[in-house]
Amino acid sequence: MTAVEGEVEETDPGDLEVITNAIKQVGINAGSTLVGVAAADAFNEYVPEGHRPADFLPGAQSVVVCASLGPTNAAWHSPNRRLMEITGYDFRENVSSIVVAEYIEQTHGYLAMQAPALPTSGQQPPLSMMLSAVLAGLGTRSIAANIILNPTYGLMFFAAAITTMRLTPDHQLEENVCPARSCVRMYEMEGKTPCMAVCPADEGGCLDATIEDGQITSSFFDRERCSTRAMNFGIRGHIKQVEILTGIDDADERRELIYSDDFRRNMSSIGRYKESVSQCFECMRVCPVGRYRRKLK
Ligand code: SF4
Ligand code: SF4
Repeated sequence: MTAVEGEVEETDPGDLEVITNAIKQVGINAGSTLVGVAAADAFNEYVPEGHRPADFLPGAQSVVVCASLGPTNAAWHSPNRRLMEITGYDFRENVSSIVVAEYIEQTHGYLAMQAPALPTSGQQPPLSMMLSAVLAGLGTRSIAANIILNPTYGLMFFAAAITTMRLTPDHQLEENVCPARSCVRMYEMEGKTPCMAVCPADEGGCLDATIEDGQITSSFFDRERCSTRAMNFGIRGHIKQVEILTGIDDADERRELIYSDDFRRNMSSIGRYKESVSQCFECMRVCPVGRYRRKLK
């Protein structure tokens, strides 16, 4: 099926599903663990103009969302808590999303591109990968830093391709993944869930929530505080260090900072993304969702 400009093609729903599944398989073959599809206009209900797929690709019909696991099971089990800070991710989901985009263009003749996911200013990304994942049925928001939890795998990492090709969209999950049943039981006994217990807002942490009848009735996440703990390397960390540098008059002191391990790590993470993007996994380390999968021989 090849698109001719200005021509609207109708594809039999059954055929469209087969084509959609084939495109998902391309993403999985390229390294994704899961691939879901969201309709481009589904974003309109949740985000303002400027943050919708069609703002980046006029005529956008679909968003193909690629999800990968990030740290391996062994990394989660390492007795060295900092291991996951200093081992970079492989960004498989990003590779997978560009492979999908190229496949759509070359095989089906529709326009397709990687979705812009990294914030260019502040913390708001051009297109939210969290929203994309929710709309593509890959997970739901959690109490822990609003991280999207997949019911099978828990924490995942997302990238997406936007395309003018109409595909069969997935449904959003009907049930919230968070809070897990064991978290509800803990909340009923102790007034907190595992993630709230490791990072309690009222004791200098970032998380708080109330749960009634197994559902979240309110939640609080101190994003600014979290980012000072979880994102100290990379672009943010580098900006912080440049700010410090500009305030140092003494040449020896400046040199000490420039040759420090932290400065080197920042440059390394910016230049090669060697360092992990996130430096705090504690709320996810205690989260039961998907944890059973991390037990291997
Ligand atoms: S990533 Fe770390 S600092 Fe941020 S909410 Fe989770 S435990 Fe707290
Ligand atoms: S620990 Fe429980 S409450 Fe916290 S994010 Fe995971 S499932 Fe949700």
